[in-house]
Amino acid sequence: MHKSKLGVRVTGKLDGGNPKHASHIREDGENTFTVKPTWEGDPSRCYGLRFAVMAENSGVDRVPVTVNVDWGTPQHMEYKGVYYVNCEGEDDWTERAAKVNGQVASVTFDAEPGVSYLSLAPMYNYSTYLAFVDALAQRSEVEVKLAGKSRHGREIWRLQMPPEETEDAEPVTVVCRNNACETAGNFMIEGMVRFLFSGEPEAVELMRKFTFHFLPMTNPDGVFDGLERDTALEDGANLGRMNTAPDPAHDTIRTSLETIKPKLFVNLHNWMIPDVDGLLCNDELYARRLSELLPPVGKPPRRYHREWYSDTIAEIEDRGDVTLYPMAKLPELHKDSGGTWKDFCRKRFGARAMAVEFPWRGRTVDDMRQLGIALLKAVCLIRIGERETP
Ligand SMILES: [Zn+2]
Repeated sequence: MHKSKLGVRVTGKLDGGNPKHASHIREDGENTFTVKPTWEGDPSRCYGLRFAVMAENSGVDRVPVTVNVDWGTPQHMEYKGVYYVNCEGEDDWTERAAKVNGQVASVTFDAEPGVSYLSLAPMYNYSTYLAFVDALAQRSEVEVKLAGKSRHGREIWRLQMPPEETEDAEPVTVVCRNNACETAGNFMIEGMVRFLFSGEPEAVELMRKFTFHFLPMTNPDGVFDGLERDTALEDGANLGRMNTAPDPAHDTIRTSLETIKPKLFVNLHNWMIPDVDGLLCNDELYARRLSELLPPVGKPPRRYHREWYSDTIAEIEDRGDVTLYPMAKLPELHKDSGGTWKDFCRKRFGARAMAVEFPWRGRTVDDMRQLGIALLKAVCLIRIGERETP
């Protein structure tokens, strides 16, 4: 904990916080701090897209606080120029543009009396998820099952709606938080579940035609530990890939999918490319139909990147996609990756399978909930059409 004279303390030692170690937070002056995030691997392996601290203001007045986020490398700073602020108890997060100078992004925000958070993305942590699951466990419309546990014994829950499977209902699976930092999917699942509970005729119809299975936090260790991508700081699994370090969370995803055998599979991600949404589904025509059904949500409107048919580096290079997403150039990410869960579901169960990437920039948490609802409706609508015209 670092306490300033006026009583504002900044720490990353919390669920989802980064950096965890007090030695990475230095007080430079009155309400001015330098913070060095930590992440798994070096900049050639990961972007380092996790930063989240809590500011505690014990005074009675609002206090401006400046945090200089020192990323330790000037690489990938194009994704680290906007931060999110939340005062405890508020639903939404406010965007704050930082001044970027080399590897340091300086962001100033008003710390209200009490607790506020400053993060690279709106936070949704392990405790938030447990509260979400607990609330659903009280309801008869959903069955809550413990699918497995992480290396550190954290819970990986599977939610099924409706609880009983009917013969004609097709299994749908929605997963998120393969990558620890990508919080958008949790808000999208909140939207989807609220919609399915809503009693609207369309929701009732979908609950009759499909059985929905949600895995809302596949990487609870990475989430809790404040990591970017993997399940552990060292030797962790990259849960978005099939060939990865041995990890019970990976086994849990696989066993769940083998049990469910989904016919429709959606993996929710949020990359940091600010002006492009991703629909990665190995089928250009499908991606185009889906993008047409999705309303523009958030500002500014963005274009869709929808033509990734494969995860092999050679094919990505062939299409020139590396200019859009330079991470794709990193051979380590793709070499022997064994493909993704969408490839697995497609090959194994003949599923219509996709990953989506809906970046935060210009979107509120409620935008993400609305996007979740729109996505669920759209993929189900297309699926119904596919079933009716074989
Ligand atoms: Zn991701």
